[in-house]
Amino acid sequence: MYVADPRRPGETTLRGIGVSPGVAIGPAYLMLDTGFHAAERRIAEGQAGEEIVRLEDALIETRQQIKAIQANLDSNSAGGKASILDAHLMVLDDRAFIEEVINTIRRDLVNAEGGVRKTAERYVDILAGVEDDYVRERVADVRDVARRIMRNLSGRGTDLLEQLRHKHIIIAYDLAPSDTASLRKDMAIAFATDMGSPTSHTAVMARALEIPAVVALHDISRRVRTGDEVLIDGNRGVVIVNPTSEHLTEYGKMAEARRTISEGLTASLRHAPAETRDGRRVTLSANLEQEEELGAVLQYGAEGVGLFRSEYLFLSKNALIGEDEQAAAYGRVASRLAPAPVIIRTLDIGGDKLMRDADGTREANPFLGCRSIRLSLRHVDVFKTQLRAILRASTRRNVKIMYPMISNVGEVQRANEILEETKGEMRAEGLDFDPAVEVGVMIETPAAALTSDCIAAHVKFFSLGTNDLIQYTIAVDRVNERVAYLYEPTHPAVLRLIRHTVEAGHAQGIWVGLCGEMAADPLMTPLLLGMGLDEFSVAPSAVPLVKDAVRAVTFAQAQALARTALTCRTAAEVLGHCRDLTREVAPEILELV
Ligand code: PEP
Ligand code: MG
Repeated sequence: MYVADPRRPGETTLRGIGVSPGVAIGPAYLMLDTGFHAAERRIAEGQAGEEIVRLEDALIETRQQIKAIQANLDSNSAGGKASILDAHLMVLDDRAFIEEVINTIRRDLVNAEGGVRKTAERYVDILAGVEDDYVRERVADVRDVARRIMRNLSGRGTDLLEQLRHKHIIIAYDLAPSDTASLRKDMAIAFATDMGSPTSHTAVMARALEIPAVVALHDISRRVRTGDEVLIDGNRGVVIVNPTSEHLTEYGKMAEARRTISEGLTASLRHAPAETRDGRRVTLSANLEQEEELGAVLQYGAEGVGLFRSEYLFLSKNALIGEDEQAAAYGRVASRLAPAPVIIRTLDIGGDKLMRDADGTREANPFLGCRSIRLSLRHVDVFKTQLRAILRASTRRNVKIMYPMISNVGEVQRANEILEETKGEMRAEGLDFDPAVEVGVMIETPAAALTSDCIAAHVKFFSLGTNDLIQYTIAVDRVNERVAYLYEPTHPAVLRLIRHTVEAGHAQGIWVGLCGEMAADPLMTPLLLGMGLDEFSVAPSAVPLVKDAVRAVTFAQAQALARTALTCRTAAEVLGHCRDLTREVAPEILELV
């Protein structure tokens, strides 16, 4: 939303959703579209011919790729899917488009990448303004084809975010998780996007990297230019473009005050247990996306890793990783944290975590598609490679395995069968591993939550993945900012599913944790405690605040809150009760959220 402030000419305030706390101030770097600027450069007049030849080669390659994908879709009897790519071929065959690219190269003296990007942007601008749904939908085709041509022009090395040489605030229409995974924290000091939501994986990465981020700003990528000074407040979801000196001072002071409180908490609580005032102890672990975050896991006093999102290893390289490389990465994490436990989640590719190589098989509803454990069970070779790597890292006896996106008991049984087969093969090869490695599952579909009593018999623990559980329960896409207002963690339906899962797990003697973003919100801590959770797994930097929230209440208070919450009719009512208790027992938390 755009709010012009008449008292501060030149300053523009934009409001979105704050998804990663903190204040950052710096020059903007505008990415009109991820990767579009990657390899762009100016050329000398005599080089235009060479660039046009490069362009033509890339066009041929792009056409062959699209044809190959179509053939593949046809042979997999994917019905009408193959014809979807006809629209892409039409863009490639559009002489006017190609000539415009060539003219741009000659006129603006930019390389082929620059010609494609500029032309695509002109097309997108024109198409987006047309009052016709069909025409507007072609915007996505133009973007997709342009992206594909760009990739073929520049090979894989188009990761702009890796190439940043100066500190910038990244402004983009959207960022893919694979982009954020390759972000250099020292150069990208914050980001702000038009799209996005609190539980998109891009937001999850921002918290892991501890850089402020604001998403769902609608049109910031059209309002900001590279070089504009930008102030980002990730707590309040505010972005100020060209801030006045008054505002810079005000935000500077506020950031300093927040920093003092949170550093105080970190120092005083690092070695304290996550225990309520009347002695109920829970485990407070950290979520890990990339090895580089290990320092933070230890620094903030987490008791291990409750969720190692192994797919980031793959996303940051945009490729499948071999057994040795995986085993080495898992082994390094396990050794560094031993004897503390490390729960390695098997690949959770799909949804918003797409690898670039998987573009060709993009699905209409990726969150409901062949994602996660479904992909692993479909590609048993890839799954076995990962299980072997995890088992090899398990020799320190602190590794556990977790399967994501389970939707029925059969998937757990099948995955366990493959695990046993893998162990048998490794035994035959004389390879060492922990024979008692524990297996758990994520409970992140309503189907799994409602049948958690059936699933419990096959595993040693549950970890509630509320980021997905909420989207599937309320039928609200977790990355669609247009429906973000419906995404309510305290929705009574979500609370009932959590409660049911905890009871089913406990009835069969297994522990139940929660590793979705909900676990990192200290306002929710007493509620989740009261519902009986045994473990919380959160972004490393959230550990002190959640620990403070645990230590501020008695288990009896938390249970009373949970009882009240489970009788509420609306999410807002539940949240109101959570706030009231926090105000009473730990008011400092309200300063920091
Ligand atoms: C979840 O769904 O809550 C979860 C922790 O998994 P991810 O966010 O990686 O989908
Ligand atoms: Mg999930």
